[in-house]
Amino acid sequence: MKRSIKNIVLIAGGVGGAKLAEGLHSIKNINLAIIGNIADDDEFHGLRVSPDIDTLTYTLSGMVNRKQGWGVKNDTYKTLSMLNKLGEETWMSLGDLDFGLHIYRQLRLLKDHRPTIIANEIAKKFGITADIILPTDDKIRTEVQTKTGWISFQEYFVKKRCSPKIIKLKYTGIKSAKITKEAKKALFNAELIIIAPSNPLVSIKPILEIPGFKSIIQKNNKKVIAISPLIQGKAVKGPATKMLKQLGFKPNSFSCMQIYKDICKSFILDRSDRGLEKQFVSLNQKPIFTNTLMTSLADKKRLAKFIINQPID
Ligand code: GDP
Repeated sequence: MKRSIKNIVLIAGGVGGAKLAEGLHSIKNINLAIIGNIADDDEFHGLRVSPDIDTLTYTLSGMVNRKQGWGVKNDTYKTLSMLNKLGEETWMSLGDLDFGLHIYRQLRLLKDHRPTIIANEIAKKFGITADIILPTDDKIRTEVQTKTGWISFQEYFVKKRCSPKIIKLKYTGIKSAKITKEAKKALFNAELIIIAPSNPLVSIKPILEIPGFKSIIQKNNKKVIAISPLIQGKAVKGPATKMLKQLGFKPNSFSCMQIYKDICKSFILDRSDRGLEKQFVSLNQKPIFTNTLMTSLADKKRLAKFIINQPID
C-alpha cells in the first residue's frame, strides 16, 4: 500500500550524498535528517576540517562552488597563501570563507560543545531546514594502507591524488565510538532510510559500522533503499571504482551494493545497469531502475521524488 512518508533519514558522504540531499531538501512536508560522514575529518592549521559535513552544509545552503561540488563559491585563497609563505604545508585546499567556518567549529570545540550540536547549529544558521546529524561525537578516522605504510584519508585523497595502490582500509576509533542520541532518534523515527549514492567504503561504511548503528535499523525493521554510486561500473566522480577494485570487489553496482545487504534489500540502479537485474533477484533483493545521474537540480529533485514514492512494504 502506498502512503506518504514524513520522516526520512539520508545516510550520506560528501559530493554524491549532497546531490541527493539537495533533491530531498527541496521536497516540502517531509522531515529530513541527514546523517553524514565524519571519518574523513582531519586537522589542518590547528582547525578541525570536516569535508563531507561541510559539503552537505554548503550545498544545502546554496553556498557551494557548483563547479567543484565542494567548497564555497567565489572563495579566495589569501589565508592559505600566507600560511604557505610561512612554510606550512598547504596541499589541503581551504578557501578564506571556508576557513571562517573551520575557525568557528574549532572555537566551539574548544568550549567542549558536542560536534553534532555544532554541525546542526551551523546548518540552522545557514537556513538549512533539514537536520545535519553526526553519527558519533567520537573521533573516527579512515586510514589507507599503501606500500609505504598507513596514511590518513586526506593525505591519500588530496595530497597524493589517490595514486598509491590501496592494500587495506581501516576506520581508527570506530570500535569504541558511541552513536549520538540524535542519530539514534532519527533512525528510530525514520519511516524510510536512504543510503545516498556515496562511496560505500569511505563515506557510508564508517557510519554503518559504528557499534549499534545497524542493529537499530535491523531490530526496528526499517525500510532501507540504497542508491548505487556507480553507473555502468564507473564512479561519476572520485576514486570509488579504483578503491573497490583494489580492495577485491568487482567494480559494478551489484558487488558494490552487497556491502549493504545485511540492512537493505531494495537498490536503485541506473537504467543502463539492467544487465545486473538477475544477480539481485537471485538473492531475493529488489533492484529498481531509473536514471541516477544528477547533473541539474531537476535531476536531483526527480530522483529524490522517485525514491520517496517507492512503496513501503
Ligand atoms: P565524497 O566524500 O565527496 O567523495 O562524496 P560521496 O562519497 O558522497 O560521493 C562520491 C560518490 O558519488 C562517487 O562514487 C560518485 O560515483 C557518486 N556520485 C556523484 N554524483 C553522482 C550522480 O549524479 N549519480 C550517482 N548515481 N552517483 C553519483
